[in-house]
Amino acid sequence: MGNRNTSLVDTDISRVLAPKGAHGLYERLVAGGVIFPELRDDLSLTGAAFALRDDFRCLDDLEGPGSSQRPSDSTKPKRTRITAIDISVTGYGWRTGSNGRPELVVHSSNNGLFMNFDGGFTVNCPSCRSAVELGTDGSEGLYDALDAWCQDPDSSQLRCMSCNASAPLSAWQSDNHEFAAGHLGLTLWGEHLLGVVERPSGASTKLLKSLFSGSDGGDPAVVFCNI
Ligand SMILES: [Zn+2]
Repeated sequence: MGNRNTSLVDTDISRVLAPKGAHGLYERLVAGGVIFPELRDDLSLTGAAFALRDDFRCLDDLEGPGSSQRPSDSTKPKRTRITAIDISVTGYGWRTGSNGRPELVVHSSNNGLFMNFDGGFTVNCPSCRSAVELGTDGSEGLYDALDAWCQDPDSSQLRCMSCNASAPLSAWQSDNHEFAAGHLGLTLWGEHLLGVVERPSGASTKLLKSLFSGSDGGDPAVVFCNI
C-alpha cells in the first residue's frame, strides 16, 4: 500500500517571506495544540517532521467522506490516520538548533512543488479551466514550466493551449487537487483529508485553514497525493 498525504499550499506568498511564514505557522501549530514542538526524523518519507498530538482530534472529522455517507461508525478511525506534519519552505529544510528548537536552514531538497506521484496529475488553466495532464500530448509546456520553476520560480510561466492566456505556474492549480506550486506548504502524512474540500464550511476545515493561513486569511490550495 502506498503512502498518502494532504497538503495545504500558499500559492501567493513570495519566496523571501516564506521562511518567516513557516516560523509563524510552526508557532500557531504548537500554540494550537496540534503538534509537539520537537522535530523528529522517523515520521515521514521526506525527513524531519513534527508529531501530531494525541489529544488533537480535529482531523478525525476530515478523513474520508462525510458521516452521512459512512455505512457505519466502524469506518470512522478510532484515532486519526495522520502520522506526521511537515512544514515545507522552498529552498529550506528544518533541523534542531543548538537551543533544541527547530530552525530553518538552506536546503535544496524542497522545491515548492506539490504533486501527485502515483497516477500523475492534471492542472487547470486559471482563465478557462482547460485541463493539461502531465505526459499527454500538449503537456510539453507543462514540463518546461516545471523545469523553469525549479531553476527560478518567479520566471515560470505556462501558456494555455486552449485560450492562449499565459500565467505563472503557481496560478495553475488542479481541479482534481493533484497539484500546486507555492513556497509555503503544510503536509499531513497518512491520509487524504477529503473533508477539507467536501465540507469547506465545516468547523474542522475552518480551523485547519485558519491555523495554516493565520491572520492572512488566504485560501490555500489543497493537494492530495499518493506517493
Ligand atoms: Zn485557458
